[in-house]
Amino acid sequence: MLNKAIPAYTLGKLQMYDECPQKYKLCYIDKIHIVEPLNQTQTGNNLHNIINYYLKGMDVTRLVEALNATDKRLWYNFKNSDIKHYKVVNSEYSFNLKIDEYWLTGRIDALFEFDGNYIILDWKTGESFAPERVKFQTAFYLLCMYEILKLKKLINSPEELSLQYFNLAADSKITIHFSQELYLQYRKHLLEIINCIENNKEFYCNKTPACKQCKYYRACPYI
Ligand code: SF4
Repeated sequence: MLNKAIPAYTLGKLQMYDECPQKYKLCYIDKIHIVEPLNQTQTGNNLHNIINYYLKGMDVTRLVEALNATDKRLWYNFKNSDIKHYKVVNSEYSFNLKIDEYWLTGRIDALFEFDGNYIILDWKTGESFAPERVKFQTAFYLLCMYEILKLKKLINSPEELSLQYFNLAADSKITIHFSQELYLQYRKHLLEIINCIENNKEFYCNKTPACKQCKYYRACPYI
C-alpha cells in the first residue's frame, strides 16, 4: 500500500487560509485562476532581481542604468542604506523544513549577520506598506528561519533573530525583534492553521468589508 504524501505548506497557502478559508478553497481546491494587473509586480521583480544579483557579488551597473527614474531612486535607497555594513549570509534564500510532521517551504529576500545576530530582510517596493498587513508573513519567516538556524547550530535563542521590512519608496525600515514568547505563539498558530486545513471539509467564509478587495470577489459563492 502506498503511503499518503505529506503536503508542503507554503507561506501563500497558510496565509490565504488564515485570511479566509473560502478563499483558500477557491484558489487551491477549486483552482480558480484570477489574473491580476502586472505594473506593480513588474517594478518589484526588476528591483528584487537587481538587489539579489548585487548581494551575490555581481556587477549590476548596466542593469541599474536601464531602470527608470523611480526605480533608480529605490535602488539607491537600498544601496546607500546601512545594509552595506551587514554580512550577507544568503539572498533569495529558499528553504524547506519540517515542523512536527508537516513540511514548510518558502523563500526570504535575504539573510544577514550583524553584530553576532541574524537579520531577515524583506524589501517592499510599493508606496504604502503597513506591517499589520503582513503579520502572517512575519510569523512564518521568523519561525522558519529560527528553526533552520537552530538546526544549523548558528543560533541559541529567538532573541538573536529579527526581521526588517525595508520600505524602499519611503527609505525607512521597521524592525521586528523575535522572542521566546513570539516563537511559542507563532508555532501554535501555524500548527492550528495546518490542522484546520487537514481536517476542514466546509471552508466557511470570512465575509468582511475587505471582501471588496478580495481577488476572488466575483467568484465567491458567499457574495
Ligand atoms: S470574497 Fe470574502 S468571503 Fe469570499 S473568498 Fe474573498 S475574502 Fe473570502
